[in-house]
Amino acid sequence: MASPVPSGVPRPGGNPSFPPPNYNMQRTSSDSIAAGMQNLQINRPASMPNQPVPRPAPFAPPPFAAASASSAPPSAPFPGSAPVSRSGPPPAGFQRAAPPSTGPPNAASVRPSGPPPFGLRPPSPAALPSSPLMAGPVVQPSITPSVQGPMSNGQPAFASGPPYFPPSGSAQQPLVGPPSVGLSDRVPQVPPSIRPHPVSSAGSASHGPPSQLVPPPPTLYPAAFQPPPPFSAGQGMPSPPTGSPYGAQTWPMQPPQVTPIPGTQPPRMFGMPPPPPPNQPMNSMPPSMSPLPVAGAPAAGSSKIDPNQIPRPVPGSSMIIFETRQGNQVNVPPPATSNYIVKDTGNCSPRFMRCTINQIPCTGDLLMTSGMQLALMVQPLALPHPSEEPIQVVDFGDSGPVRCSRCKGYINPLMKFIDQGRRFICNLCGFTDETPREYHCNLGPDGRRRDADERPELCRGTVEFVAPKEYMVRDPMPAVFFFLIDVSMNAIQTGGTAAACSAINQVIADLPEGPRTFVGIATFDSTIHFYNLKRALQQPLMLIVPDVQDVYTPLQTDVIVQLSECRQHLEQLLENIPTMFLSNKVADSAFGAAIKAAFLAMKTTGGKLLVFQSVLPSIGIGALSAREAEGRVNVSAGEKEAHKLLQPADKILKTMAIEFAEYQVCVDVFITTQSYVDIASISVIPKTTGGQIYYYYPFSVLSDSAKVYNDLRWNVTKPQGFEAVMRVRCSQGLQVQEYSGNYCKRIPTDVDLPGIDCDKTIMVTLKHDDKLQDGAECAFQCALLYTTVYGQRRIRVTTLSLPSTTVLSNLFRSADLDTQFACFLKQAASETPTSPIPQIREQMTNFCINILHSYRKYCATVSSSGQLILPEALKLLPLYILALVKSIGLRADGRIDDRSYWISRVSAISTPLVVPFVYPNLMAIHDLVSKQETDGSLVPPSKPLSSDNITDDGIFLLENGEDCLIYVGNSVNSDILQQIFEVSSINEIPTQLVLQQYDNPLSKKLNEAVNEIRRQRCSYLRLRVCKKGDPSGMLFFSYMVEDKTPSGLSYVEFLVHIHRQIQTKMV
Ligand SMILES: [Zn+2]
Repeated sequence: MASPVPSGVPRPGGNPSFPPPNYNMQRTSSDSIAAGMQNLQINRPASMPNQPVPRPAPFAPPPFAAASASSAPPSAPFPGSAPVSRSGPPPAGFQRAAPPSTGPPNAASVRPSGPPPFGLRPPSPAALPSSPLMAGPVVQPSITPSVQGPMSNGQPAFASGPPYFPPSGSAQQPLVGPPSVGLSDRVPQVPPSIRPHPVSSAGSASHGPPSQLVPPPPTLYPAAFQPPPPFSAGQGMPSPPTGSPYGAQTWPMQPPQVTPIPGTQPPRMFGMPPPPPPNQPMNSMPPSMSPLPVAGAPAAGSSKIDPNQIPRPVPGSSMIIFETRQGNQVNVPPPATSNYIVKDTGNCSPRFMRCTINQIPCTGDLLMTSGMQLALMVQPLALPHPSEEPIQVVDFGDSGPVRCSRCKGYINPLMKFIDQGRRFICNLCGFTDETPREYHCNLGPDGRRRDADERPELCRGTVEFVAPKEYMVRDPMPAVFFFLIDVSMNAIQTGGTAAACSAINQVIADLPEGPRTFVGIATFDSTIHFYNLKRALQQPLMLIVPDVQDVYTPLQTDVIVQLSECRQHLEQLLENIPTMFLSNKVADSAFGAAIKAAFLAMKTTGGKLLVFQSVLPSIGIGALSAREAEGRVNVSAGEKEAHKLLQPADKILKTMAIEFAEYQVCVDVFITTQSYVDIASISVIPKTTGGQIYYYYPFSVLSDSAKVYNDLRWNVTKPQGFEAVMRVRCSQGLQVQEYSGNYCKRIPTDVDLPGIDCDKTIMVTLKHDDKLQDGAECAFQCALLYTTVYGQRRIRVTTLSLPSTTVLSNLFRSADLDTQFACFLKQAASETPTSPIPQIREQMTNFCINILHSYRKYCATVSSSGQLILPEALKLLPLYILALVKSIGLRADGRIDDRSYWISRVSAISTPLVVPFVYPNLMAIHDLVSKQETDGSLVPPSKPLSSDNITDDGIFLLENGEDCLIYVGNSVNSDILQQIFEVSSINEIPTQLVLQQYDNPLSKKLNEAVNEIRRQRCSYLRLRVCKKGDPSGMLFFSYMVEDKTPSGLSYVEFLVHIHRQIQTKMV
């Protein structure tokens, strides 16, 4: 069936100068804080046309005929091109049913004219490119008669272009939210064209040739092969031998404890394969195996192992240039957490899609034997590296892209043209189709079409097609942003309302400009208050909806207004709201009724609903109860059924969410609270509508306002799309088993995404339904049909082709650690609400044991039972699994809301963020100045997560992509305290920290490091100070996952445990 197409293009950046989050932030500190915020800023087109356009008809019965304005702006060529300015009329617009506004177009004059937000914004080394748009030039099939003119599809699909990594040249512009990839400042320095392609085999992705099972002699790895951060060996660890990314080659176990194994290899711990040649193709991968002599003596063994020598992530900051294919061969991608620049030479960039194994087992039995998971992590709008070529947009005109007539797969580089180009064979289903006459081209001597290199769809793994009419159920929807704010007593008193209003007010300037941007606002406590923002009114008019059981929306046409028409009223209102409700004594919150009412207002268009909530929804539709407390009272039942508190309380919110999704309303919920709000129930709404939860607990207006603002800004400015539909197709022999992520599914094959953005990832598990042919390639194609924020309908097609194999050891060599682990993490999170914790922990541990057992049994030649043999590519799996079973989500002592948030966060988390989320980065910061980094990195090297690395005279920073904990030891030198915090003793450090930058090198370096981490993570991490001996210190130490705890094994013990289990299975 014709698959719906997804849409969406990320949006080009935002206005470079907006007001900083000034709310409640001391001016003195704003610089340092502001410095970090710039990260989230994106450029946007310098100007958008502003004219009324016809409004698209809603999905449902179109109320009015929609005119289609299809002329799209020219796409901006990639780097260095002119700022994305759109010429020509805007894409299909939106015209209110109500009388057209007569006011002037942009009410720009009303906009705040304050100083640019972050004064100190470091001139980014990597300044923003003048053109944020990633999408490349539109390529128009030259032979296609039906295509008119040069491509005019609109906005460059920006998707690709992360604004943050700007090409040099625009130093004035603020950095934008960085993608998770490498350090931008280093990026530009890597001349892609000059560097060799080091690696496909770096780091965790190890590859090895099939037949060799004995670990090769230690070989030095060039730095470029080292696995990249986020982990690096800390200063506290013995530095690994140069050249060996994985640390020492020898296994320093004390002789007596080692069970001597005659004839087996020396206690070398990590056999490193020789460095593969650049872009090592899969079939020539070196062998890989890591024998770990953890042996035989179960209990005794553990204490004898030198913890400094067991497998740990190693730093690797060198930039890797990765070509996805070379000739006929597929290259193994670098680890998701590494710094790399992709050259799409026929397979998609691993940023968009990566598989848990880079060779596909020919049969389900072989897969089962390996113990591994077969799944794809799909992040269709992922931010590319600024040095990467933008995604090209192709316009086939009214006929639409060429597709297989049987499976509807899209034309891609692996479709084979035969019979002088008159026919082509689908690489997904094997069907042979006639080539459309206008698309015909002769074949060259190499059997390829002569125009293959000129056509992006025939030489790139990812392209974006302009969607013709048949891919639209209605005209592309406008960009609608509806803000819903809790003004109940608690929200007002804790500052949640003020923080929300301030953030929204500042973010208004970042919304897409033009006639297609609409906004609405409402507040709620035990009733709902809409506001008529029509310009004609003297001031916004409040419209109260008292009935929170059977909600309705007043004056539907007046509550959602063109931004240009109401900017002034909106700003005025946002300034007034905190005061208007200052003495509000209403404690109840009609959250469910409020979102329902807002939804009714948005129903005809769809759009983003951004909700700011501070307390437990207590009244009206979808009201919840404080069941966490009830659970505590009934302890015995509580322990047994604790996981039930992680399930939604009832189906009311879920039912509402499905309806929201049907009308393309995507909901994000910002929870600023100091109490239990039942995230398990609330999170169903964002999860089902493609949105997400933002959680600020315990909310502090002083230290969290900046984060609320930055999160909101990134939310509205990041590359994203609306009303999307996604489907993954795969070659015959395989089929999609299940999708997992934040979406709504109404038919089995597709997922509906009212909202999809660059950070969201969808896991796609696969299963065999037939045998694959050994050696043949197996393809996976993701098609995302979406609408860009500027109203273009696009189809982003991402194709990945991988070789299949019948050899088990090939699977281990080509296993992708980050992706495998992401798969385990997501599985654990999805099961947490339905299974007891011990069961999930055991299941995760068993996954790990089964994989290692399979490798030990079928692939390792070592006969000794005294060694734990780890496949090179997966040698960090035990460490990550250990961290997983100790993580917040799987700890019985965790707060219910913390665990529910963890589950909701994991649901759509991207692969590069998975490892740091579970195994955070720990860095020493007290010696930042004395230990000059050598690689130019602003972020200090990481240390293993063991309390052995924490000293009383040190200050340490731990970050997991969400939070940043700063641990201050008890006996830190007062000079250091003075430099970093401007206090003389630890007791004077405020718990609600607002990191400031003082005039000294240490403070400067710390701020640089924090800002860099925020940039890399695309997230304005929360800062919290932790001190020894109080709860914050315990929180910090709970992340030391390698330690032994009352309920958990140490890392060494865990290895011994796994080894013992494998031995048992071997017998
Ligand atoms: Zn097909």
